[in-house]
Amino acid sequence: AKMQQRTGHLYFSRSMGIDIRERVNMMHALRTAFEEKQLFVVYQPQIDLVTRAPVGAEALLRWQTEDNTMISPNRFIPIAEYSGLIIELGEWVLRQACQELVRIQRLGFSNFMMSVNVSQVQFRHPHFLGMLRKALEDTNAPPHCIELEITESMAMEEPDALIKLLDQIAATGVSIAIDDFGTGFSSLSHLQKLNVDRLKIDRTFVMEITDSSRGSSIAEMIIQLGRNLELDVIAEGVEDERQAKILTELGCPFGQGYLFSHPLNPDALHDWLSHHKQ
Ligand code: C2E
Ligand code: CA
Ligand code: CA
Ligand code: CA
Repeated sequence: AKMQQRTGHLYFSRSMGIDIRERVNMMHALRTAFEEKQLFVVYQPQIDLVTRAPVGAEALLRWQTEDNTMISPNRFIPIAEYSGLIIELGEWVLRQACQELVRIQRLGFSNFMMSVNVSQVQFRHPHFLGMLRKALEDTNAPPHCIELEITESMAMEEPDALIKLLDQIAATGVSIAIDDFGTGFSSLSHLQKLNVDRLKIDRTFVMEITDSSRGSSIAEMIIQLGRNLELDVIAEGVEDERQAKILTELGCPFGQGYLFSHPLNPDALHDWLSHHKQ
């Protein structure tokens, strides 16, 4: 309950002056949209920066209203967290992503990975682990091909409980990425204690990469940190060849961004994959 309150408060102050009535309206609209199947999941390819081969995809939630307006997850995820709907919604996204993963693997991409965003509210829910295990079991998705993305701020809370949960998740075979990495303040010693597999360089640091920033960019430091801790690194928000080239030269193994592909619906993803088969 304390967590809920705190999260609520967080989005209260963050929600750009949206008043309570508007937030309540949006909560109802979101629930209705979910029930009426106006929510869907798109998948953004992740690639090997050296070979440019597809290695996986990130599942991203979409809300298209009846009049075809797209509402950004940056707006409705906080509302879903605030109202608690994120518990149901998050489970639904995970199951959709698991099913999609199974389909992609059947197309011949047998090592394809699926990344799924997990909200702080979901992660701290007492049934999170049970929910995860059940979703894997019901969908027959291979756990070692599923990655959960938790944000850096989530990776910094209550060390003991977090360490235990991450170990339990690791025991299922599912891996963990720290999303938006570089935006928080996790220390090296803290990171070393956590059972995580990959760091995801936040888009803001990818945007900053230039030839002249070499040796001093945050992206470069994160790549080095990954190397030291033996963690994989993926850069998000890669938009141009220059960024891809520098990231590759710096030794960043994986990338994701508009340069390679926008998030795609399942049919478009299968199409894209068939053209990018190694
Ligand atoms: P995120 O996890 O950091 O996801 C990356 C966002 O960057 C996505 O925005 C993606 O569409 C966008 N993006 C990808 N490549 C590029 C690029 O090259 N340039 C630019 N400018 N943007 C790029 P999106 O889909 O609007 O999602 C926004 C945020 O909403 C996500 O940020 C994530 O925090 C949250 N979100 C989305 N789906 C889910 C979900 O299923 N569960 C939870 N808990 N959060 C979600
Ligand atoms: Ca993410
Ligand atoms: Ca991210
Ligand atoms: Ca980000």
